[in-house]
Amino acid sequence: MRRRKTAIFFLIFGISLSALALALNVGWILLNIREVALLVLGMIFFALIITGIVLNTIFLVREVRKSEQHDAFLNSVTHELKTPIASIRLYLETLKTRDVSPEKQQEFYDVMLADSDRLLNTVDQVLSASKTGETRSRYDVEELDIGGLLEDSASIVRSRYNLDPGSIRIAETEAELRVQGDSHELQTAFVNLLDNAVKYSPGGAKVSVRVKASPIRNRLDIFIKDNGVGMEATELKRVFKRFYRVPQADGMKVKGNGLGLFIVNSIIKKHGGSITADSKGAGRGSTFIVQLPKA
Ligand code: ADP
Repeated sequence: MRRRKTAIFFLIFGISLSALALALNVGWILLNIREVALLVLGMIFFALIITGIVLNTIFLVREVRKSEQHDAFLNSVTHELKTPIASIRLYLETLKTRDVSPEKQQEFYDVMLADSDRLLNTVDQVLSASKTGETRSRYDVEELDIGGLLEDSASIVRSRYNLDPGSIRIAETEAELRVQGDSHELQTAFVNLLDNAVKYSPGGAKVSVRVKASPIRNRLDIFIKDNGVGMEATELKRVFKRFYRVPQADGMKVKGNGLGLFIVNSIIKKHGGSITADSKGAGRGSTFIVQLPKA
């Protein structure tokens, strides 16, 4: 009887000990799971916070850069508006207060006309850049001879900078190549590209323009190549961003507002085409390649 009691006691004792061990074990696992869970949760939160901080910093840096570009843009636009106005004012005052010979008067009128063109050009650029946001801006589509269009754009730029015909050469094409589009808009795009090619070639521009059937079917490639300042590979995409200007080398002071290529890009895109920039590096000239669908 005693033995049985002892056996029962030890059995219960054993079961209790086992239960305790089990409880301890389970408790230990549970506690650890909680810790592991806490650890995992902590890591996730930590990663989230770090990602948040990184994203926030990137966002801030971008905003600072944007605001710097906006400031630079405002400065250059204000300058571009003020300078021709000041110049026109000065000539008008001279004409009003002094006796000026008829030849000189003609010269003054020419300068004032050039200044007013410069004003109009700046205003046009700012207006088109704000219009490009509109998805449904109207444009008149017609079939255009691309050679003629390039020739017209080149003569606008030649007369803007008083250049001889050899400075912008347009290579002959075997056949008349035609595109479908708005002549006014496409001319704006090509004038901008040619203007840049001349503007960023400080030692005298040699610009060559070539039109070729693209390797891609039903497309045309237009190459506008200059011998100017060129650009590093990292800039090739950025130059199409609104307000973006490549930092200029010391001593170079080419004026601009960073809108030209942004406008060109949106016009070409609207015509179902694409534009890319290419350069072997700073100081080694640039080529802009416009691809448009054939008419
Ligand atoms: P802007 O000429 O008014 O600065 P754009 O949008 O026309 O603005 O051009 C953006 C930038 O791209 C320019 O500031 C210049 O640094 C660079 N760029 C454009 N065209 C050329 C070119 N033909 N050769 C070298 N750099 C160019």
